[in-house]
Amino acid sequence: MALLQISEPGQSTAPHQHRLAVGIDLGTTNSLVASVRSGMADTLPDAEGRHLLPSVVRYFGNAQPLVGEQALADAATDPFNTIASVKRLMGRGLDDVKTLGGALPYNFEPGSGMPRISTAAGPVSPVEVSAEILRVLKLRAELALGGELSGAVITVPAYFDDSQRQATKDAGRLAGLTVLRLLNEPTAAAVAYGLDKKAEGIFAIYDLGGGTFDLSILRLNQGVFEVLATAGDSALGGDDMDHAIAHWMLQQAGVDASADPRIARRALRDARKAKHVLSDAPWAEVSMTRPDGSVWQGRLGQEEFAALVDPIIGRTAAPCRKAMRDAGIAPADITEVVLVGGSTRMPRVRQRAADIFGRTPLADIDPDRVVAIGAAIQADVLAGNKSSEEMLLLDVIPLSLGIEIMGGMVEKIIPRNSTIPVAKAQDFTTFKDGQTAMAIHVLQGERDLVSHCRSLARFELRGIPPMVAGAGRVRVTFQIDADGLLSVSAQELTSGVASNVTVKPSYGLSDDEIERMLRDSIVHALEDNDVRSLRERQVEADRVVAAVESALASDGAALLSAQERASIDGELARLRSLRAGGDAAGIREGIDALDRVTQEFAARRMNAGIGRALSGHRLDEFG
Ligand code: AMP
Repeated sequence: MALLQISEPGQSTAPHQHRLAVGIDLGTTNSLVASVRSGMADTLPDAEGRHLLPSVVRYFGNAQPLVGEQALADAATDPFNTIASVKRLMGRGLDDVKTLGGALPYNFEPGSGMPRISTAAGPVSPVEVSAEILRVLKLRAELALGGELSGAVITVPAYFDDSQRQATKDAGRLAGLTVLRLLNEPTAAAVAYGLDKKAEGIFAIYDLGGGTFDLSILRLNQGVFEVLATAGDSALGGDDMDHAIAHWMLQQAGVDASADPRIARRALRDARKAKHVLSDAPWAEVSMTRPDGSVWQGRLGQEEFAALVDPIIGRTAAPCRKAMRDAGIAPADITEVVLVGGSTRMPRVRQRAADIFGRTPLADIDPDRVVAIGAAIQADVLAGNKSSEEMLLLDVIPLSLGIEIMGGMVEKIIPRNSTIPVAKAQDFTTFKDGQTAMAIHVLQGERDLVSHCRSLARFELRGIPPMVAGAGRVRVTFQIDADGLLSVSAQELTSGVASNVTVKPSYGLSDDEIERMLRDSIVHALEDNDVRSLRERQVEADRVVAAVESALASDGAALLSAQERASIDGELARLRSLRAGGDAAGIREGIDALDRVTQEFAARRMNAGIGRALSGHRLDEFG
């Protein structure tokens, strides 16, 4: 069945011209970028071959922020300047953030509205932090694809409201991306499996990651994905299993970890490793060094493992049942189950998902990459790389939108699950004689009372000519674009006086802020180049360090005096610490210094190598 086709403004492309477009999974823990190349969608690795970019940003006083693996490694030593899980803060007000639950380790700037985190680089908003992550992915994609990106599709959870979507889109713009569309994560996963090509169906997307569980029920109908229901647990995932296994290990070893947090950290790391092994092997070897230096060794078999993790996995069942109840469907109505998130690699998780829904889940695509891959497929279509009969998928809005009317009630203007883009208008009358202004309060939610809905924005329409009550007619128009973003306008009709106001969600950025950030982003363009050369230097430093280390291991003892060895070790240590810093020139200098101090060693190795090759042979053999 053909889907409706949307032609995007400014997207009329000559058919033969391939535009570079990417899909981005901007995740709480990790982010990925994917693209369609030669008809195949796949995620793009960084220079070191890693696909997952930890969604962690570390700020410095005077240098470009560091994003990813290195920032993650620094989180323990510099917690206030190292921002992780920023997705949880996107589009939230400061008050929301305070009630998010769980102590957030950051210092927030005083004030109201959008939260700002205090860092060594000054206050930063969640939008700016996310933009840093997106910038790195953009750069990675441009390096991998060899050109400038024409656009990106960024995924968001299905339950994200308008403010959270707006914040995500702002982050994309700030990173210099043309955001073709925001796409719901479960929808992207369904697209990755080609489920949008089916005529219709009801799909359950089971997403179990490190820290969160999300279950979405989608209905595909006439080419439109509708979110029937979402449910989940924002504190359930693989991390809980790591804790359970670590606890078991400590118990078995008779170690009390409360005395030393390092023991607990090591146990958690080893527990996670064992968990991964147990996804493929019948048992995993585990060990633990006690504080007195003695070592406990043990073996974790599937049966014991099951006893530890099954209660945790079992906690996914209740949200699944709730979502099916909310959607008004039974397991038998579900045509496909799609697995997303690293923890769905576990056979026990797959089995549980199969039990809950009564069918074998789709699991062929790497569950960490499936969302980014679906987004890349969508981006490829939106960028105009597909022939005209290719289909474009439509989304629906997850929550109803309306305005406040008398009595603290909400009048819905666009009901939830309306397909987007959409525009709807409704007329209201003035209620007082001589009324010259009307306050308009925009709300989102399913409940009837204003106090139960989320306030998105307020604005006033002024300049209504004085009339008797009921004579003035104000037409309020709600318009939602293809990303699910809303603008509202109001117009007084009888007098012909028109006044239009476009509304931004309360926690989005003001125009001034966006402008300032866009200006900053032009400045950042130069810094992006710096990031690239820094990354290249870091890779080179890693290579040099590894080469010297391996040379030392094989020939250091035989060919170097203690003093020579000490000076090489000194330069090695210096280069390692320079590499961790953010200064490309410093790393270059460190590499050169190490090079100088190892020259003599290299020459001796060369000679020794020749000597070894020659020994046992007569010289004339080589003549
Ligand atoms: P995500 O948040 O989707 O990146 O998922 C991360 C979670 O997946 C972590 O708890 C990982 O330990 C877990 N995970 C990744 N690979 C495996 C595996 N092979 N077996 C079990 N769990 C895994």
